[in-house]
Amino acid sequence: MNRRQTIPPELRYTIQQFNEQYPTEDACLETIKERRFPGGVTHCEKCGVERKHHRVSGRTAYACDRCGNHIFPLAGTIFEKTTTKLRLWFYAMYLMSSTRCGISAKQIQRETGVTYKTAWRMFKQIRILLSEDVKLEGSSIEMDEMYYGGKRKGQSGRPMRGDKKKSPVIGMVERSTESKAGRIKALATPDVTTNQVLGLVREYVLPKSTVFTDEYPIYDRLGARVNEHKRINHSAKVYVMGDIHTNTIEGFWSLVKRGIGGVYHSVSQKYLQTYLDEYSFRYNRRDCGNLIFHDVLAKAAQPLVSRPDPVMSRMMSDESVPF
Ligand SMILES: [Zn+2]
Repeated sequence: MNRRQTIPPELRYTIQQFNEQYPTEDACLETIKERRFPGGVTHCEKCGVERKHHRVSGRTAYACDRCGNHIFPLAGTIFEKTTTKLRLWFYAMYLMSSTRCGISAKQIQRETGVTYKTAWRMFKQIRILLSEDVKLEGSSIEMDEMYYGGKRKGQSGRPMRGDKKKSPVIGMVERSTESKAGRIKALATPDVTTNQVLGLVREYVLPKSTVFTDEYPIYDRLGARVNEHKRINHSAKVYVMGDIHTNTIEGFWSLVKRGIGGVYHSVSQKYLQTYLDEYSFRYNRRDCGNLIFHDVLAKAAQPLVSRPDPVMSRMMSDESVPF
């Protein structure tokens, strides 16, 4: 894959630009307000109509120009009850969107002086925002699994039956075309079975697609679900045969493994999906340079109630720090 080493100027968003755009708490609050209620105009409960609202000094509130009723732009967002400065949240989002390999809570703790616990929670909340409902549209899809965890030597491949230490992940990625960079969907799954594979293909892959996998038996029945199923025989040490390979998705796996291993050191099974979402979010915007930050900010400014996902809301309210 042709990966740019340097970001073209139009896709750059430097820390200096960030600091200029968000110098104060007010600037951050104003940004969230503008994203939720452009121009400060929104429905006023008391007046019963759309009204312009103005800033109430000293509070994270805006008041109706006519009746003075307050609205709170942070309500329902990840910032709602935070005691951490908005600028720090923004900086954490900036860091997370500016590195390919991710960023550790330790690093932001060192840079800003917040406690490790605060830093860890901030990243956890931001990561949860990055879950996306991606439906793959490309005509050529690679599908593969990886196994996360299990540190012992010689355990890097597929686990033995009943090995509970490894968490399986199944991924599907569009191959890039001239006009479009391929996107990925990666899911931590309870097991790796034919039914899992077929279920995921039904949900994320169009029937007209060609799917590329290796020869592992869980993919045996794929051919009936898609236009064409092509397989590469890895066990015979064949990795590429014409267009038959799974190199794209293996590239993503190595990015995730390098990242989690190098930056986060370890990730509990419970949170594995949120880390996959973080890597997928960046991967799916890898041609956006540092502008990814603006997408993260857009997600953060949305109230969480519009994401009725029970697993996610459980995680949002979970305050524990894993180590
Ligand atoms: Zn009003």
